[in-house]
Order: sequence, then structure tokens, then C-alpha cells
Amino acid sequence: EVKPPVAVAIGPFAAGAGRRAVIAGPCAVESPEQVLRIAKAVARAGATALRGGVFKPRTSPYAFQGHGLEGLRWLRAAGDSVGLPIVTEVMAPAQVEPLARLADVLQIGARNSQNFDLLREAGGAGRPVLLKRGFGTTVEEWLASAEYVLAAGCRDLILCERGIRTFERTTRGTLDLGGMLAARSLTSLPLIVDPSHAAGRRDLVVPLARAAWGAGADGLIVEVHDTPEAALSDGAQALLPADLEALCDEIGVLPGEDGSVERVRTAIDAVDREISALVSRRLELCRRVAGAKRRLGRPIRDEAREATVKARFAEALGGSVPETGAERLADALIGLGLHAEGWPGAGAPEGPDA
Ligand code: PEP
Ligand code: MN
Repeated sequence: EVKPPVAVAIGPFAAGAGRRAVIAGPCAVESPEQVLRIAKAVARAGATALRGGVFKPRTSPYAFQGHGLEGLRWLRAAGDSVGLPIVTEVMAPAQVEPLARLADVLQIGARNSQNFDLLREAGGAGRPVLLKRGFGTTVEEWLASAEYVLAAGCRDLILCERGIRTFERTTRGTLDLGGMLAARSLTSLPLIVDPSHAAGRRDLVVPLARAAWGAGADGLIVEVHDTPEAALSDGAQALLPADLEALCDEIGVLPGEDGSVERVRTAIDAVDREISALVSRRLELCRRVAGAKRRLGRPIRDEAREATVKARFAEALGGSVPETGAERLADALIGLGLHAEGWPGAGAPEGPDA
């Protein structure tokens, strides 16, 4: 049977049971300066953890393999300087102990999803583990891998869907949101999504992230680079810092406290755009309800209905605005609505009592 969802702490943040995480950072830690610059950008955007690989599983042995434990120290320093916990991949059992000393979360990559010795070793390290689904594994096999980590004593395990290999070649992987949702009914562990490795191309990362968020993922892990054309790995799929900011604003993740008025204003602008779109939609509905009322010979103005609308705003906004705030907001919307409905008393859109 499936127990209630659990939240796994990632430093001061969490994923699961209603808490949602955004883990962002470069594919690989390339230099102290690179990781610090990107750490500042992801903290400013509002991410809740910093990612960065120091042991990189590369298809070719001649490709950049990562800066190892030295890179881990750069990642730790960058995380500390912006106040974010760090997530990094462990590739071999012998790396678990040194990585666990400095990393907040140990990531097990897709290629090692069924490396059972590594799963056991990481599960016994006393750190949260982020387990990616292998690109050739079923949901059942993914959850069986999770059992290895849990059986080794780990209580803080996060699962991550990152795209599976199919016949499709237009994307690097095929993001299996259906599989992620199916896993939801089979486990109480948090489920996050990696749209970057699934897409393999920048233009699809944000749309896939949106889809995952809409599907109720407990978080995202996203690759970000400020000079992707010069990245030592996965540059083609890296979001730019501004893309990450826009994504965070869109999904409602609050910006980090970087002290910049401009950054917070960008987030406020995104909220205002959403409110404006909702107001337009509400007014269009008012026009339609007016048409229905006219056909049925019902009066346009309905004070009992207005009272219900006001009560709903008062209840929803109760704690967060001063006493009359909710009422004034409801009055303004009702006034605009009456105007849209063509109620003769609503000449100026100031409210029913104007
Ligand atoms: C990564 O997160 O950089 C990575 C190598 O991911 P995956 O194991 O999903 O390919
Ligand atoms: Mn990568």
C-alpha cells in the first residue's frame, strides 16, 4: 500500500508533500569562477539548490571527466556563498564517502541507476539521495532500485524522471511524464523531473519544465550556464540565467534574496501579467453571463451573488490583506463586471456604489 507523501529536506528547503524544489546549476563544475557566477544567478532566480557535476559520466573517455574532489570544494564554496545546498553526482562506491563529507545531496545518474553496489553505498552515507531513472529502465525497475537505497538505511530519497530512450531522435530522451505519474501511485517518495537531459536542446527545456510542473512534479532539476557555447558539457541544453528567472516567475517560485529591487520587480511584473489575463477572462465570462441572463429575462444585477463573490475573496485573502482590502478588491472586480455586462448603473467602472 502507498503511504502518505513524504517531504525530503534539501538543506533548508524540501521536496515532497506539497513542497517543491528547483535544483539548478551547470552540468559540470568547470572552475571556481564559473560555478560561483552561475550559483549567484540561480540563487537570484529563486532556485532552492545548486547542482554541479564533479565526476561526469561521459560517453567518450576522452571527453571532460570533471574536476573531482577539487571541483567539489568549488561547488561547496559557491553554494555557501549564496546560501544554497549542493547536489552532485556520485559515480562509484569509493566516491561516496568523500562526496558525502561536503555535498548535501548525492545524485545517482541514469547510467548508474542499476549499479546496485553504488545504490547500497550511497544509501548508507547518511545524506539524502537523488536517484535518476535509468534511460533503459521501467518504472518498476526504477522503484526496485529505490528499494536498494532505502534498504541501506537512507530515509531521504528523491526520485527523478529524466527521459528514457525510445525510437524518437528529435529529443535526447523522451520525457516520460506518464511514468512519473504512474510512479506517484506506487511510492510515497518525492518525484522530480529533469527536463534538460530529456530535451537535450534549450528550446524545449522550459516547455517540458512547465509540463512537469503542471503534472504535479515535486520539483525540477535544470541545467543552467551563462556561456553555454563555451560549456565543457551539455551546453546545448543549458538554460541561460534569464530563462531560469522567467521559468521561476512563471511557476511561482519566489526570487532569491539577492537584494536587487529589479529582480523582485521582474517577478511582480509576471504576477501582474497573470492577474491581468485572469481579469480579462473574468470580464469575458461576465459578458457571457449577461447574454444568458438577458435570454432568460433575469436581471443583470444580483446582489446576493455579489455578496457571495465578496465573501469568497474575504475568505481567500483573509490573512494576507487588511480588513477592507478584500472587499475593495471584490468591489472593483464586481464594478468592472457590471460594466462589461452593460448594467446601466455601471457607467464608470468604479464599483457598484460609485
Ligand atoms: C547530469 O545530471 O548531469 C547527468 C549526467 O544526468 P543523467 O544521469 O540523467 O544523464
Ligand atoms: Mn548534464
